[in-house]
Amino acid sequence: EKIIVKDLAEKLDKNPNEIIGKLVQLGIMAAINQEIDFETAELIAEEYGIEVSLKESEEEKVEDPEELLDFEIEEDDPKDLEFRSPVISVMGHVDHGKTTLLDAIRKTKHVDTEAGGITQHIGASEIAINDQKIVFLDTPGHEAFTSMRARGAKATDIAILVVAADDGVMPQTIEAINHARAAEIPMIVAINKIDKPGANADRVKQELTEHNVVIEDWGGDVIAVEVSAIEGSGIDQLLETILLVAEMEELKANPNRKALGIVVEANLDKGRGAVATVLVKNGTLNIGDNVVVGLASGKVRAMINDSGKRLKKAGPATAVEITGLSEVPKAGDKLIVVDDEKMARNIAAKRQSKVKLDKVKSDKRVSLEDLYDRMKEGELKELNIIVKADVQGSVEAVKQSLSKLTNEEVVIKPIHGGVGAITETDVMLASASNAIIIGFNVRPTSSATAIAKKEEVDLRTYRIIYQAIEDIENAMEGMLDPEF
Ligand code: GDP
Repeated sequence: EKIIVKDLAEKLDKNPNEIIGKLVQLGIMAAINQEIDFETAELIAEEYGIEVSLKESEEEKVEDPEELLDFEIEEDDPKDLEFRSPVISVMGHVDHGKTTLLDAIRKTKHVDTEAGGITQHIGASEIAINDQKIVFLDTPGHEAFTSMRARGAKATDIAILVVAADDGVMPQTIEAINHARAAEIPMIVAINKIDKPGANADRVKQELTEHNVVIEDWGGDVIAVEVSAIEGSGIDQLLETILLVAEMEELKANPNRKALGIVVEANLDKGRGAVATVLVKNGTLNIGDNVVVGLASGKVRAMINDSGKRLKKAGPATAVEITGLSEVPKAGDKLIVVDDEKMARNIAAKRQSKVKLDKVKSDKRVSLEDLYDRMKEGELKELNIIVKADVQGSVEAVKQSLSKLTNEEVVIKPIHGGVGAITETDVMLASASNAIIIGFNVRPTSSATAIAKKEEVDLRTYRIIYQAIEDIENAMEGMLDPEF
């Protein structure tokens, strides 16, 4: 349900410019003849103490509260945009040195190291090289990365893929590659543990090629840097590479607008109440700003950075720990700044009541059941699939057979495949990428089943490859047998 700004103004008996002003406060740039959605119109009307309703509410429309007021889509005037620093996630197989690498980077290049500042763990770190800033998210691994993405948050600009030179490409390396790829962010490979006697960087590059990550000196476009997180070698080069890739990405933001941010982590502190680390994505966050963060609202009381320094304002690509929220938000929740306290409280209350009424339904999730209808409506042009199987040969066989089902209407796209049980991480990737999961001779772990249910991810297991193919084939033709 949509309404044109002009019509809304007329209905509310207000000047359209006033309405546009209110929309700007909500972070929505709309012109007079532009359509806005009903929920937004409702909020504006509420501002004036007016209750609005849809005339012929054929069926009640259910909204995901996270989708309500999604501010990330709105655009800045290009002339207001300035370069901003990159935000980095470190991914890779367990024990390949992600944590050690992050520590090494923090130790050598932390902004306030020389000033004798004490580093604080707030969930993100800022480092400086050649007077340029890089922000690292402190939780290594693709699980954190993907669970934030599943909640609609795009915090990371570039992924560092850590591969131990003595171990090579391992299952979680492949997962990390697929997770970064699904997020459509560039990757830089850090070939770690180069100090070890068994280190073989060439073998790592060779193995990466097998997964379509082709390193520059092999004719590809992915940069690899050899490092030793323990000895500290290659770190400068890695950081310079990050700046180089960031430059190519042309990361921009408008520092002169109300802040939009993403929660990186949050907890309840005995003395300080709800504490959240927020990565400012756009705009500038100030002390005293009225904010809505997920289901919480509040006024920013204090902000500290990862050096423990108190800040009055935080511009784009700055991670700050804030206090002053009514409750603890979740990682991945979005922060928006609104005009006044009342509006902040209203939006949060509205979101909470939606959750309480358990109206949350993510009807956008793809499933084989409604595949056909959505294809016909032209809503779905790509079907993302995750394949898990008991042996690598089956993974490849299923991926290939399914890819071949691609027709003019829908592209069947395997975004990840692996050997072993269907895990939580698989489900989160499916959720983040709107994919379905096909298991062949494997089962989901109990936590994966629970999360799949919660996230409404379509997860199917088969004993025979042919049946999996047949199901998808039938689904594409709208002839899927109902599930029992
Ligand atoms: P994570 O699981 O990827 O975070 O890996 P860790 O950072 O915990 O590292 C796993 C192990 O590898 C630890 O014992 C580290 O000391 C060791 N390690 C990490 N980086 C290096 C390195 O560059 N060289 C050597 N020799 N060992 C390393």
